[in-house]
Amino acid sequence: MPNFVEIFKKVGVIQDGHFELTSGLHSGIYFEKFRLLEHPEITTLICKEIAKRFKSENFSTVVGPTTGGIIIAYELARQLNKRCIFAEKSEEGREFKRGFKLSPNERILVVDDIFTTGGSIKDTISAVKKKNGVVIGLGVIVDRSEKLIDFGVPFFSVYKSPAKNWKPSECPLCKKGIELSKPGGRR
Ligand SMILES: [Zn+2]
Repeated sequence: MPNFVEIFKKVGVIQDGHFELTSGLHSGIYFEKFRLLEHPEITTLICKEIAKRFKSENFSTVVGPTTGGIIIAYELARQLNKRCIFAEKSEEGREFKRGFKLSPNERILVVDDIFTTGGSIKDTISAVKKKNGVVIGLGVIVDRSEKLIDFGVPFFSVYKSPAKNWKPSECPLCKKGIELSKPGGRR
């Protein structure tokens, strides 16, 4: 496996500071997945690792949540010759729009970029179940969760980050008065 930490640092995926993550947690490390996803050749390499893990599993479709998850799902589907669809935000979490359909018991691999509290993955699994699909596995690029949530299916991450996340009330960087940034697509 290539040294992904080195690659992440080189292209600016791993950033130091004081960040509010999408989950609402605070951290001194932020993974800007788009520093990676803007390089198709690196995305291809990383998806190869997820592909290796799941290529012998029986499934027909790769599903990712918007936005980064679409790119990963698409690249993985391309490498493994599967179908690719994506789940978008809705009032109750996530749903399939654009007329995407699932056959009854269609077997699905769910993928995403950064796994922190598992919110997007959980909502994507619910969207699949609502359409009577069956999730057979989960693949992510970076797992930065403190303790892994068991979804009852195989879980694979290309890189397990040791970065700490804190509730805002317990964040040592807040206590030090370091300015908080809100990275990602929320600016
Ligand atoms: Zn903080």
